[in-house]
Amino acid sequence: MSVSSSAVQSTLVENRVFEPSASTVAAARVSGMEAYHALCAEAERDYEGFWARLAREQLVWHKPFTQVLDESNKPFYKWFQDGELNASANCLDRHIGTPTEHKTAIIFEADDGTVTKVTYKELLAKVSQFANALKAMGVQKGDRVVIYMPMTIEGVVAMQACVRIGATHSVVFGGFSAKALQERIQDAGAVAVITANYQMRGGKELPLKAIVDEGLALGGCDSIKNVVVFQRTASPCNLVAGRDVLMHEVMAAQSSVCAPEMVGAEHPLFILYTSGSTGKPKGVQHSTGGYLLWARQTMDWTFDLQPNDVFWCTADIGWVTGHSYVAYGPLAAGATQIVFEGVPTFPHAGRFWQTIEKHRCTIFYTAPTAIRSLIKAAETDAKVHPKNWDLTSLRLLGSVGEPINPEAWMWYYRNIGGERCPVVDTFWQTETGGHMITPLPGATPLVPGSCTLPLPGISTAIVDEMGNDVANGQGGILVVKKPWPSMIRTIWGDPQRFKKSYFPEELKGYYLAGDGAVRSEDRGYFRITGRIDDVLNVSGHRMGTMEIESALVGKTDLVAEAAVVGRPDDLTGEAIVAFVVLKRPVPTGDEAKALATELRNWVAKEIGPIAKPKEIRFGENLPKTRSGKIMRRLLRSLAKGEAVTQDTSTLENPHILEQLAKSN
Ligand code: ATP
Ligand code: MG
Repeated sequence: MSVSSSAVQSTLVENRVFEPSASTVAAARVSGMEAYHALCAEAERDYEGFWARLAREQLVWHKPFTQVLDESNKPFYKWFQDGELNASANCLDRHIGTPTEHKTAIIFEADDGTVTKVTYKELLAKVSQFANALKAMGVQKGDRVVIYMPMTIEGVVAMQACVRIGATHSVVFGGFSAKALQERIQDAGAVAVITANYQMRGGKELPLKAIVDEGLALGGCDSIKNVVVFQRTASPCNLVAGRDVLMHEVMAAQSSVCAPEMVGAEHPLFILYTSGSTGKPKGVQHSTGGYLLWARQTMDWTFDLQPNDVFWCTADIGWVTGHSYVAYGPLAAGATQIVFEGVPTFPHAGRFWQTIEKHRCTIFYTAPTAIRSLIKAAETDAKVHPKNWDLTSLRLLGSVGEPINPEAWMWYYRNIGGERCPVVDTFWQTETGGHMITPLPGATPLVPGSCTLPLPGISTAIVDEMGNDVANGQGGILVVKKPWPSMIRTIWGDPQRFKKSYFPEELKGYYLAGDGAVRSEDRGYFRITGRIDDVLNVSGHRMGTMEIESALVGKTDLVAEAAVVGRPDDLTGEAIVAFVVLKRPVPTGDEAKALATELRNWVAKEIGPIAKPKEIRFGENLPKTRSGKIMRRLLRSLAKGEAVTQDTSTLENPHILEQLAKSN
């Protein structure tokens, strides 16, 4: 573990501040900073009372809890343990008999632009039918079910149906390979896989069921009794007699009424394998009560959800963001949401903006990687610039997944939000279940590139390697001091790894997020500086890779994206290698040399000569996980000139490795 110091961070001090408008403050649920501080003070005064109040207000309990937090077996915390509820009942049944019953729950925007809508009542009927079908197949409370499906209404139905009968789902992103799928099926000991024959992405029909067959054929999946296939397209697929069934057929045979199975609050709602950007995927296990509470509560606080909002979170259900802010949070809150099947660049790179206009979207939540690629597209092709669409329906923007650099933040704020919409930069993780550090739209003054302050009740702090608090302005390790309801419960099947990874002994029992961060001296705002294993040590100077990347991307006329890693160096200990994607074709020869020199001098000017990359390599893209995150561990190998031997099955664009392996 190492800590990034403040020495080289000064150039990234951001002076622009955007206060929420008076009308936004007036209309907001958490209205103004006093309201925020009052909530924080409530949690401070009576921690358990605070969480108990929220859990009673936000969730429908079949059996009320009497105990709030059980700390008897740290760090295996339990919340609301003797309470009973069902997550699907909390997302669907609770709206029946209220005006929400006939409200549109999901606006499904298919890859080809076809729109399908379902109301809450219709969604409940589908979920119940499918839940009955799963039961008829023998799926029981406590069983694990792997879901390998495209973004569709049926994907959400599958998740909701599992939890309705008390089964624990594990969604595997539809872009993962047969091998990655097989490993997850095996690790979870799943009894069934729910998939689709094909998925549609960018106008192409891509096989899913064939990959399931391939994965199961790799062996070790004897626990699987059934494969359920949703027919997304008319194309036929292989069906194994006695094992494989069609979703619509098994549903047709069932009643659309299914009593939800009540479970204890600690019952595992789902297992989700993290994206693997830093190593072997971990099966992050979440609870029913605590997790759902936070998915629901953050809809009110972070997004300040209002009854007429049209909410759109672009994340796939294969990621935690697609769990908390597609499958659970918006439904528990009774929102109307857009579920989008396609890709942001099909049929053109204005698709997101066009879709916002088409459905009069009011809250838009996406990832920096998408924003950066759409900036590049808009700047090279005026036809896909957001100004071609009417985005005035928007009132709030969100960002998640990676630090958003101030330049991208400003572009998003200006060009998408029309300088009218607050941008909530939400820091959180698969392990945290929901937002941790984020502005509140009607309260927090915004600073580009900063996720600002923790939500009420969330005790994030920055400490040194011994767990001691560090002063504002000083970089350190991001921790959470107190347990919170939606925290990871364990790593599925590996409690020791859970303890070791997240609660290392030297950190006083704090939850270790694995990210570095620094708080600003003036406001105490948090800024994430990158993973703690992404800290470089050049001639004794410590700096976060994020700092150098931000500087490079700050050269807005030239650079679209950059990733920085270290490589051992005899002279300086570590040398900086930067991988850069330009806003122009990949340069070669003298042009590449000249541009590299220009960029090195730029970084020297922005941060200081010590941060000058020793080498700059250009590529048309960077190696990314399917969730769009840069895989720095692969870049580290490339920078050292090593062959890439690590698992690349979660990589979106493997061919890019060859291009980046070469020095200019
Ligand atoms: P793995 O744990 O397998 O390496 P991962 O950490 O990428 O994968 P996620 O849980 O999806 O998987 O991502 C959480 C991480 O994403 C955080 O730890 C942080 O590094 C980064 N992150 C998410 N949101 C933000 C944000 N708003 N600002 C900065 N970083 C963010
Ligand atoms: Mg992680």
